[in-house]
Amino acid sequence: MKKYDYLIVGTGLFGSVFAQQAKAKGKKVLMIEKRDHIAGNVYTKQEHGIHVHKYGAHIFHTNNKKVWDYVNQFAEFNRFTNSPVANYKGELYSLPFNMYTFNKMWNVVTPEEAKQKIEEQRKEAGITQPKNLEEQAISLVGKDIYEKLIKGYTEKQWGRDCKDLPSFIIRRLPVRFTFDNNYFNALYQGIPMGGYTKMVANMIDGIEVRLNTDYLKEKEQLDQLAEKVIYTGPIDAYFDYQLDPLEYRSVRFEEEHLDIDNFQGNAAVNFTDRETPYTRIIEHKWFEFGKDDEGKDIPTTIISKEYSSEWKLGDEPYYPVNDEKNSEKYKQYKELADKEKNVIFGGRLAEYKYYDMDVVIAQALQVAKKELEN
Ligand code: FAD
Ligand code: UDP
Repeated sequence: MKKYDYLIVGTGLFGSVFAQQAKAKGKKVLMIEKRDHIAGNVYTKQEHGIHVHKYGAHIFHTNNKKVWDYVNQFAEFNRFTNSPVANYKGELYSLPFNMYTFNKMWNVVTPEEAKQKIEEQRKEAGITQPKNLEEQAISLVGKDIYEKLIKGYTEKQWGRDCKDLPSFIIRRLPVRFTFDNNYFNALYQGIPMGGYTKMVANMIDGIEVRLNTDYLKEKEQLDQLAEKVIYTGPIDAYFDYQLDPLEYRSVRFEEEHLDIDNFQGNAAVNFTDRETPYTRIIEHKWFEFGKDDEGKDIPTTIISKEYSSEWKLGDEPYYPVNDEKNSEKYKQYKELADKEKNVIFGGRLAEYKYYDMDVVIAQALQVAKKELEN
């Protein structure tokens, strides 16, 4: 008999949800985390009274009522609705692509006029079956929007030509013929009041956590402690990159604390030209409410500029690059993973998938149900 039933590697959402479910079933759980804090990439830290999203802006959105009810047990959510603004060389456009965007771009007023414009541009480009991100984008919103709001941003974000990227990436964004700037088609949306870290801390309340512990550096000893391992780190790292590393995009955040009360008037502004070196600027206070009223006497705000770069060994992996080459390599790693006895691989890095938070939670709940039912 080992001391713990489960050793959970990683305190992000996948690990934390699994841990919470296992503990609720009376299992003995140990969580380890190589960083010096819990919560993985949704980690928020309070600085100057503002909850700063340290690994990039995280807006919770879902159509899955079960997931929504689940997270609401651990946090109260505000009614934040994401409406980023695109800045193309000083011209401002509404996102996601909607009637405000079409009106600003082409002066069209009705949905019919907007659709006609897009159809004209799609035909001109000769696209029938979109084969890559560029063709998908042009066929969804036309060439003008592609060139001003998509091409530069996407090439900075992914470090690849839009013709070499899969079309599903752009289909993440809604295209609407209504005046609606809500970035997500989701029934439920918001930010946990008090920050994501508090939400995760509530989830894993009472569970033993060892920070600053890298599983892969002490695998042999750690494996002795538990019957089973839940691994949420990168799948290629687990296998010591024996099939060569998968490709990821990494992100560097340049944070600035400014003595003014309003830097950009919105939580997210995307810089969609190719030349601006960062992709977006986040002004964290606008994820919360009441920030425009409070603290006027001591003006303060925190912004983060997001710089995207190709991942190399030693960097933090953020986005899996789900192109054909990497998907093929992932499949081979997955075959190795399937042969590992007593290890479950889960989450964005271990499954090498561009998952949103709600999907990670849904997966973790499902895996836990299957694992814990007997
Ligand atoms: P992670 O949060 O990455 O957790 C994995 C944990 O494992 C990490 O804490 C890591 O340090 C730890 N770990 C790894 N290897 C080891 C090891 N060897 N030993 C010990 N610990 C280890 N989703 C949304 O729904 N809405 C958004 O607005 C949104 N914005 C995003 C913005 C950015 C910039 C990024 C990159 C992602 C965004 N996401 C968003 C996706 C969201 O971050 C993920 O879906 C979710 O956080 C994944 O959780 P996870 O548990 O799979 O992984
Ligand atoms: N995108 C774009 N212009 C924008 C915002 C997004 O071209 O102003 C594209 C880009 O390719 C990006 C994809 O849409 O990778 C998905 O955007 P999302 O906001 O979902 O990216 P994430 O928040 O996951 O970084």
